[in-house]
Amino acid sequence: MPHPIINADECSACGICVDTCPQGVLDIVRDAAAVVNEDACIGCGECMEECPMGAIEDIEED
Ligand code: SF4
Ligand code: SF4
Repeated sequence: MPHPIINADECSACGICVDTCPQGVLDIVRDAAAVVNEDACIGCGECMEECPMGAIEDIEED
């Protein structure tokens, strides 16, 4: 399943990726974006494209 790789140190917790994800994969947990519903990720990359901080580094397939 694909899943985003988030660098929490770069994340401003703006929530844009949470609102952008069509699958409800992300949420803000302890002041940073986190994957809370990994199985739902479809690897679309929209979260990475919309992040203003470049905190979503990659969409990893495994
Ligand atoms: S790649 Fe797409 S489905 Fe996966 S977390 Fe990002 S926006 Fe959501
Ligand atoms: S869009 Fe980027 S900076 Fe904003 S909460 Fe998501 S990962 Fe963090």
